Amino acid sequence: MRSGRRAVVVVCDSLCADLVTPDVAPALAEMRAQGADFASARGVFPSTTRTSSASMATGCLPAAHGLLGNTMVLREQGALVRLSVGKPDFLERLRRATGRTLRRPTWAERLARQGGAIVMSNVSPGAAYLQDPDGFGHVYHRAGSRGPGGVALTDGLAIEVGAAGDRAMTDRFCREVLRERAPALAVLWLSEPDHTAHGVALGSGEHLAMIAHADACVDQVRRTVEALDPAGDEILLVACSDHGMETVERKIDLDALLVEAGWKRSRESQEVVVAPNGNAALLYFADEARDAIPALVRWLQDQDFTGRVFAGQALAEIGLPTEGPLGLALALRHDASANPHGVPGRSVSLLSPFSDSSPVGCAQHGGLGEHEQHPFLYLRGGGLRPGERRQPASLIDIAPTVLRHLDVAADGMQGRALQ
Ligand SMILES: [Zn+2]
Repeated sequence: MRSGRRAVVVVCDSLCADLVTPDVAPALAEMRAQGADFASARGVFPSTTRTSSASMATGCLPAAHGLLGNTMVLREQGALVRLSVGKPDFLERLRRATGRTLRRPTWAERLARQGGAIVMSNVSPGAAYLQDPDGFGHVYHRAGSRGPGGVALTDGLAIEVGAAGDRAMTDRFCREVLRERAPALAVLWLSEPDHTAHGVALGSGEHLAMIAHADACVDQVRRTVEALDPAGDEILLVACSDHGMETVERKIDLDALLVEAGWKRSRESQEVVVAPNGNAALLYFADEARDAIPALVRWLQDQDFTGRVFAGQALAEIGLPTEGPLGLALALRHDASANPHGVPGRSVSLLSPFSDSSPVGCAQHGGLGEHEQHPFLYLRGGGLRPGERRQPASLIDIAPTVLRHLDVAADGMQGRALQ
């Protein structure tokens, strides 16, 4: 690694690029104007935080790294079991079921002997640990913090999800991680505006206040970086979101609908198991039930809640695996109509046994809607000239861009370093 060079990544969870305006988010708007703005940046599918975290850390799509959503179905003792990826024990169950965690190395692994990585995250434990599931660097999270080798840290992150916790975490990140410890890669993942928006309307006063709060956290990081590296030669600063959100138009109970239409014997039956992912669903099949997939695709295409259905080779086109028990992906129907606060983008959404957030009128993500698939992505330093780019860009391009700046190989990554 080139000495002195570092990268700092700050993520405002769920903040759509369209909602970065000078009045609500002045620091981000200034970074967009003065830095490199990848205006065509897109998320991954499903557009959930945990999938996005794994894709950012590995520079790969879900088919390659193997983490397929906020909920996933694992084969445990022959049974298809659906699990929340957010739970602290998920990675251990994934390791037991498949022999490993992520199938591709993370940036923390690649930097383990190249200056190291420190992650501070205030989202779900699952999303935080997916930054570094095998303990190559340091991950700080309120559910437990770990250092290299997975060793539990005594100086953990005693905060709550939400704005106050984000603020305390940002203070500590700037003071301790950026100024004192100075790792090759420092990642700060804020819980807002995502945490609040799952329970309020997009564009409401509560939501705008959380965008302003996230903006203030980014501003603190940016000022710290600028003080440490006024010329922008040594520190590459990436400010981004993992995905945006859509307003929930209505919620459906896909398990119940599949039972009613005869595709499942009961909610608990195993011929087809639904993994709900907000505005998308991934359907896993028992081996003996896979013959039913083409007919189920046709049935789904006739339903008024369906946006797009992917099966067979079409799964590969959206970055999902064509092997294993996954048989079908469903992106729920969305449109561009505005909510009462004038924020465009509405989607049908799924009820989930793992979460009762995001009622009708509030915000959700997971699907392929224009607004949930449109994160912001601004870079400062790293030799990138300022200005707007219209070229395609994706979450998976962030890690190769960081590694290029650090002069560390990005071999095997599917993303490309941004120019
Ligand atoms: Zn997220």
